[in-house]
Amino acid sequence: MYLYNSATHKKEPFVTHTPGRVEMYTCGPTVYHFAHIGNLRSYIMEDVLEKFLRYEGYEVNRVMNITDVGHLASDADTGEDKMLKGAKRENKTVMDIARFYTDAFFDDCAKLNIKTPEVVQPATGLIDEFIQVVSGLIDKGYAYEAGGNVYFDTSKLERYYVFNDHDEEDLAVGVREGVEEDVNKRSKNDFVLWFTKSKFEDQALKWDSPWGVGYPGWHIECSCISMKFNGEWLDLHCGGVDNAFPHHTNEIAQSEAYLGHPWCKQWFHVHHLNTNSGKMSKSKGEFLTVSLLEEKGYDPLAYRFFCLQSHYRKGLVFSWENLDNAAGAYGKLIRRIAALTGTDGPVDEEAAKQLKEKFLTQVGNDLNTSMGVTCLYDVLKAPVNDVTKRSVLASFDQVLSLSLLERAAVLREKEAAQAKTAAAPGGFTIQGEGDPAIDALVLQRMEAKKAKNFAEADRIRDELKAQGIEVTDVPGGAVWKRV
Ligand code: AMP
Ligand code: ZN
Repeated sequence: MYLYNSATHKKEPFVTHTPGRVEMYTCGPTVYHFAHIGNLRSYIMEDVLEKFLRYEGYEVNRVMNITDVGHLASDADTGEDKMLKGAKRENKTVMDIARFYTDAFFDDCAKLNIKTPEVVQPATGLIDEFIQVVSGLIDKGYAYEAGGNVYFDTSKLERYYVFNDHDEEDLAVGVREGVEEDVNKRSKNDFVLWFTKSKFEDQALKWDSPWGVGYPGWHIECSCISMKFNGEWLDLHCGGVDNAFPHHTNEIAQSEAYLGHPWCKQWFHVHHLNTNSGKMSKSKGEFLTVSLLEEKGYDPLAYRFFCLQSHYRKGLVFSWENLDNAAGAYGKLIRRIAALTGTDGPVDEEAAKQLKEKFLTQVGNDLNTSMGVTCLYDVLKAPVNDVTKRSVLASFDQVLSLSLLERAAVLREKEAAQAKTAAAPGGFTIQGEGDPAIDALVLQRMEAKKAKNFAEADRIRDELKAQGIEVTDVPGGAVWKRV
């Protein structure tokens, strides 16, 4: 496939260190609150990317961290720890908060058909490894102790700003309004590897270390977790575009300094979901969740469909109207698939191959998911039998994960059940097993009862009973079944 690489600012052929195998790392959630649907846009696009690579035949080892310590309110190492903030807000312990929101995150992922990575590692579970890497960085001359903390020394690097997609304001860490410069830093881009001192309220979770009791900085966790579970050579690193700086820049700095060779080949950044009032943000506290969409009657997969309709490198504006449009289109698509009931003939292998080749080329062009969705409509229009259509749709759905055939089957069942509920003349509703002759007899009995002709009503009941039919009266009609 061809993928845009934020490290080189070019669309490039995707290559891996080991042929046929992808070592993939994803920055996971900071579990101090529910994931909002903006966060989940990033995880949906990363999920499609992983599934597309598998579809192309790669074996993928996907690793994700769970940030349950060390992420301060500002990515520039200042402010209160986000986990502590969450614990205070809910009057719970940090670990309770972490457990609750980690589970909630994976529940949301399941509803959106986002696969769980091969390895999911909470930061608090790997503190010894972090300490080992920080010690290694000190030994190699890339880190220093100052004021009780350990800092990465960016002046020792040949180059620091690998991503230049961010603006001047982002780069000016330490001189940004409201962010006080940390006087312990030798230069403004240096960042904390290990904290023992913060002028903010102290962490609940702390560990012993060669530099005193404290806790790790945020950036070190991703480098360490990736190096442990992906190995020394990372093929693909993913995250939302806000992670590019300083988080990913700092990950590259510490990983390459520690390893002594280039670390990650390709960087994949998903642009933001915005509302008309700006970027959706967890720390602002007002945001939309999957549960809220469900409460409003939306199928979570309609949101996935909405995300797939636009390119991951463009900002996406969320509005209820936009979601309604996507939900309507998704519903219509499912309806058309549900109508593919033909069972004749084998799969037309040649036609299927051509459709799949087009899908591979289209989606393989920098993960063009909206073209992937268009390919679904191409299948519906193709001059092939229903068996072939269903087979190709199922194949594309390995990547798009819209539960196309499953939702279509549910719709067919629902419609069949509704068809069995015949609205009879006289305002009665007869619910049965779809036999018009029985429906007619049940209706005659209802009418006899209405006319107070109970003898006739009983006679019909006996006649139905003789045929093995049991009738139950319900408000406004009757239900019958074979016993
Ligand atoms: P967090 O839980 O804040 O660490 O973020 C989890 C993931 O969501 C990261 O990859 C972020 O870059 C990404 N993210 C944050 N806000 C948005 C947004 N509005 N739209 C898309 N992705 C986002
Ligand atoms: Zn990360």
